[in-house]
Amino acid sequence: MDHTDRTVRGGWTAEGAAAGDLPPTAARWLAARTGLVPAATPVAPASATPVPDSALPASVRAALGTIVGVEHVLVEAGDRAGRAGGLSYLDLLRRRGAGATAVPDAVVVPGDPAEVAKVLEVCVRHGVAVVPFGGGTSVVGGVNALKGEHGCVVALDLARLDRLVRVDEVSRLAVFQAGVTAPEAERLLARRGLTLGHFPQSYERATLGGFAATRSSGQASAGYGRFEDMVEGVRVATPRGEWRLGVAPASAAGPDLRQVVVGSEGLFGVITEVTLRVRPKPRVSRYEGFVLDGWEAGAEAVRTLTQEGVRGTVTRLSDPTETEVGFTLNGSWKTSAVRSYLRARGVRRPCLLVLGWEARSSAALKAKRAATLKVLRGAVRLGAPAGEAWRRGRFNGPRQRDALMDVGVLVETLETAAHWSKLGELRTAVSTALTSSLTSGDRKPVVACHVSHTYETGASLYFTVIAPRDPEDPVGQWQRAKHAASTAIAGLGTITHHHAVGADHAAYLPAEIGDLGADVLRAVKRELDPTGVLNPGKLIP
Ligand SMILES: Cc1cc2nc3c(=O)[nH]c(=O)nc-3n(C[C@H](O)[C@H](O)[C@H](O)COP(=O)(O)OP(=O)(O)OC[C@H]3O[C@@H](n4cnc5c(N)ncnc54)[C@H](O)[C@@H]3O)c2cc1C
Repeated sequence: MDHTDRTVRGGWTAEGAAAGDLPPTAARWLAARTGLVPAATPVAPASATPVPDSALPASVRAALGTIVGVEHVLVEAGDRAGRAGGLSYLDLLRRRGAGATAVPDAVVVPGDPAEVAKVLEVCVRHGVAVVPFGGGTSVVGGVNALKGEHGCVVALDLARLDRLVRVDEVSRLAVFQAGVTAPEAERLLARRGLTLGHFPQSYERATLGGFAATRSSGQASAGYGRFEDMVEGVRVATPRGEWRLGVAPASAAGPDLRQVVVGSEGLFGVITEVTLRVRPKPRVSRYEGFVLDGWEAGAEAVRTLTQEGVRGTVTRLSDPTETEVGFTLNGSWKTSAVRSYLRARGVRRPCLLVLGWEARSSAALKAKRAATLKVLRGAVRLGAPAGEAWRRGRFNGPRQRDALMDVGVLVETLETAAHWSKLGELRTAVSTALTSSLTSGDRKPVVACHVSHTYETGASLYFTVIAPRDPEDPVGQWQRAKHAASTAIAGLGTITHHHAVGADHAAYLPAEIGDLGADVLRAVKRELDPTGVLNPGKLIP
């Protein structure tokens, strides 16, 4: 297999491919709203990434080669640079020459769970740090090649753990190896008329092991649940030996230890297999757009749909700014016509609500849609074109981000969640913090927000920030803004609803789980990974 498959170089867009041009209307809108003066800032070629010599001793390299095959221990500069970090804005900036990147000393690509276990044994024996590497789509520094107290670090690329192990159609369970990507999992399940239903925006690249390790949440979480809701069992290689969990759909046998593994971000062990709940693949679907007037009315509508149990499989509300950004950047339906239509209906601050229903039969879909519409009050219907426009573009964000970065834009996202009673306050606090941090002279940011994961008791907030990049100090500019937002979140919501903690959020974790909580994590880490080789510098502050 081609080991360069999963390397992460410039951005989402494959190296050598054009990220795509911004439509002229979008460029004009950006200049007017943010003061952006476009400046070409292309991705540096991979060969320009400074890659230090590998510090992995030859004896350790040979021992690893004996386990996985010498051709699966990669020390070429390009292979190592390709696993040097994930896909956050800061990661992408570094690949454009701003700041240094930690590069692993080697990339080890084991072929099965037994090889993973043996690789860990060698790394423990020789004090080599190990960074589990799935799709490399982390946006929180989760796959940064940090070595902690150790002399060198390897990226443990799970690309060869790519099998569907077995399916139990009676129980609706599928066992996958951890390196299977989301599209591959859907392809394998579709042959049996099944689906996982996990569609994060990173769908095209991310892996099942990565989803489990980070408590991922997909765009259809309203219909299929968060990833941890799908995990019925795990097989984990730890430095203390193999750990298997999950023998029954529910259990009172003490605390649910699967949840110690889910969200453990590669610190407690390497997930080699996941047993996942699967569902029959829907045969029909329908996506529609609605507009509510103002954030408060929109949030109230989404809360009611959720608490009444009648939301769509996809339920996604954009605030007025994100609605404006969407109209402008993605405008595949006629913006001005929509604006006049809404104005004529008295809508002053349009908030786009996308609802998608999926079902096994037309009658079931009709019934679901009718139940939603019965409860949804005060919304202006835009119909299927608006819903389908969102569906068509649902995975376009990362490519658009590359295109924006090419013209000198700061573009990043961050997310949180809170109970319904605090949601409005949290949105205002984060928006205000980001806006004041990123406003400077003529330069001002656009801070947009949406809700796409809802619960009976609350919801997530997902912010997209667009601003002119500070050419003098682009890294510091975002670090200050992110710190301001993270500080604003403390006490109101969680530091992360689905991106995980990684290196970037670790300092903010004690504000959420307490010093005692951090000590509990340290105790688990000591028990499972006594010499601390697994993913140093992440999750635990
Ligand atoms: C453009 C973009 C959009 C995104 N959209 C979403 C979204 O909609 N929803 C969402 O939840 N997230 C999203 N993310 C974040 C990211 O995709 C998720 O965190 C995803 O779960 C990571 O999967 P991965 O396979 O790429 O893992 P990686 O990035 O490779 O790793 C993530 C973390 O998990 C660890 N890890 C990976 N595999 C294993 C394993 N087998 N065993 C133990 N530890 C492991 C790594 O060491 C690291 O700490 C997005 C990211 C990008 C770049």
